[in-house]
Amino acid sequence: KLKTIAGFDRIGEENAFAVLARAGELSAQGCDVINLGIGQPDFATPGHIVEAAVKALRDGEHGYTPATGIAPLREAVAEDLDRRHGVAVDPGHVMIVPGGKVTMFAAILMFGEPGAEILYPDPGFPIYRSMIEFTGATPIPVPIREENGFAVSAEEMLSLITPRTRLLIVNSPANPCGGVTPRAEIDRLVAGLDAHPGVAILSDEIYDQMLYDGEEHVSLLSYPSIRDRLILLNGWSKTYAMTGWRLGYSVWPEALIGYARKLAVNCWSCVNAPAQFAALEALRGPQVAVAEMLAEFDARRELVVAGLNAIEGVSCIRPKGAFYAFPNITGTGWQAKPLASALLEEAGVATIGGPDFGTLGEGYIRLSYANSRENITRALERMGEFLARGR
Ligand code: PLP
Repeated sequence: KLKTIAGFDRIGEENAFAVLARAGELSAQGCDVINLGIGQPDFATPGHIVEAAVKALRDGEHGYTPATGIAPLREAVAEDLDRRHGVAVDPGHVMIVPGGKVTMFAAILMFGEPGAEILYPDPGFPIYRSMIEFTGATPIPVPIREENGFAVSAEEMLSLITPRTRLLIVNSPANPCGGVTPRAEIDRLVAGLDAHPGVAILSDEIYDQMLYDGEEHVSLLSYPSIRDRLILLNGWSKTYAMTGWRLGYSVWPEALIGYARKLAVNCWSCVNAPAQFAALEALRGPQVAVAEMLAEFDARRELVVAGLNAIEGVSCIRPKGAFYAFPNITGTGWQAKPLASALLEEAGVATIGGPDFGTLGEGYIRLSYANSRENITRALERMGEFLARGR
């Protein structure tokens, strides 16, 4: 009998992928399913980025690259961070990785072990908790509350730090709630971390360019006092509609970049070479498509929020970032997961139940508005009709 390590019995999943598979099955059976479940832009990757990858392939970029990524791309990432956040980043601390998730995996692996505590947002991206449990560390949920606009509360997060805390995870703009943590709150968090110099921070800023209503993105990179223990997670998946390319980057502190590089050498060697040239074009080429996609997301956001609030029993605060709405459904009398499942099976609308993002997700469902306005309108009509029928 095979005996694997116990971690594999604790590892979780991302239910969005199961919903995607079920929606696919229903579509194959001829059902008209509208997918508001999966968190990926519905746009094609901008043409000039695709062309850069094709050119790289034609130019013979077929071999291994350095484990941390090609030098021009690491330089371009550093320049981009400097331009957008006014911070100097050493390209030697930048690492190109196969997707945003890989930074999460590497950071949690570096700090998670039995006896260690890792703080993560709840509701939050489900892989944080899954990976923490895999390592045997204790996951400590940090509540993300609707009454707080789904922003991180510095006070609450700091109050959960113990002598066993090794890593804390911050995500703003956030999945699944669309919350953006304001500068004053991040200032408070960073100031409070002075008292805990042994705690590392993983800042997941993958939605940093997806902001609405003039919201600003405050990168944790811009705080010198935590630079020696900050791991920045970012990438191209969301901003440039490149989820399937499997591309991401991290910025590591001096003390950890060597470990991250060794992990790459042991595990994935390097990121797909032509994809790295595409990523370079994404950063250095025209940014028009990014602005256009954002304007479209903004219009859809209006549609989703207005549509949800028009349904009896449902209320939805305006998300400030990312492309998710996280409506409160307690007034419908439904539990979140049965509602998400009934909406898919009986109304042809795929959403994700809030509990798939953590214990505090009960009473909510997540809708991704990365779908056409027409489909969003139809989905909201179906939801409204479905809920009215059940009354
Ligand atoms: N972090 C958050 C908060 C996300 O929502 C996602 C994707 O849904 C990721 C990271 C992973 O991104 P990638 O597809 O680049 O691995």
